[in-house]
Amino acid sequence: MVQRIVEAARIESLDPSAIPRLRMPERATVFAARAARLLQLADANNPISGYLRLMAALADAQQRLLASFNAPMPSRETIELNQRHSMPIVPALTDTRGPAWRDALFMLLDSIEAAGALTPALAQLVARLRAMDSAALDAQADAILALRFAEVDPAAAPFIAAALQVVWTDLASRIDMKDVPYLDAPGVCPVCGSVPVASIVRVGGAYEGYRYAQCGLCATELHVVRAKCTNCDSTKGIAYHAMGSTDASDEDKSELARRAPLKAESCDECGTYRKIGYQERAYDFEPYADDLASLTLDLLVSDAGYRRAAPHPWLWPELTEDDQ
Ligand SMILES: [Zn+2]
Ligand SMILES: [Zn+2]
Repeated sequence: MVQRIVEAARIESLDPSAIPRLRMPERATVFAARAARLLQLADANNPISGYLRLMAALADAQQRLLASFNAPMPSRETIELNQRHSMPIVPALTDTRGPAWRDALFMLLDSIEAAGALTPALAQLVARLRAMDSAALDAQADAILALRFAEVDPAAAPFIAAALQVVWTDLASRIDMKDVPYLDAPGVCPVCGSVPVASIVRVGGAYEGYRYAQCGLCATELHVVRAKCTNCDSTKGIAYHAMGSTDASDEDKSELARRAPLKAESCDECGTYRKIGYQERAYDFEPYADDLASLTLDLLVSDAGYRRAAPHPWLWPELTEDDQ
């Protein structure tokens, strides 16, 4: 395993045309870019514009916190052990997660409170989060990371996810790309073991024209070839769905779909979809923000019979009794 990593790293350094396998989060801008994009997308036409503005404030708070955050890095031995077992380099789902993320949560709540007038519902939620003990908070974190829907508290989850994101994005931004193992599991982040939120076809420099799936936890982007399911690796039964004007002619509809900056990529093999954005059509496209802000596309694709490969970490479904 270690041998394979060394070889891959050497090949990448010798061949300037090699596709960059990873794009690590940019510490100085990662959450600020999300906040800016969320505000851009929170226009009057968006059915959840108020929520997007609240989440933009949360992303801003994440960026301020990240600037001074310094989570303990795993030891060299732990990193090498995970490499040998083709395990994520700093797995998030572990009993050795430590208390750093809970400190991050309380600092984010301070920021949200300081930002100004809280609705009664939000004030109540903040109070509820503050009253939870360490065990209850860690149980929520585990349920979120393991996608155990029935145990997730949908109202509290975005804030808990935001705190976890600060810790793991901090780690990912400081990890040496060459240390990151190759995993056998498709669609899993090799840095933290979480699942991607959406993908982006990038423009610029070494990334030009390549598609990356962005991790919903640590924001690391992993290269994934186009027209391939990011959930099960299938290349069969892939289809694309885009919002089109309902009163457009069929011809106009297909033209609109061809030029759409955001689509949903569905897979008939596993029945799921993830969204994909094209930076050449929307330069500020940000996978995490654009995924959250495009609820109407989710409705369209779910009407077509597909389900999300994973929930957005800031928008958990409210389960009905039938779902549980
Ligand atoms: Zn990750
Ligand atoms: Zn699939």
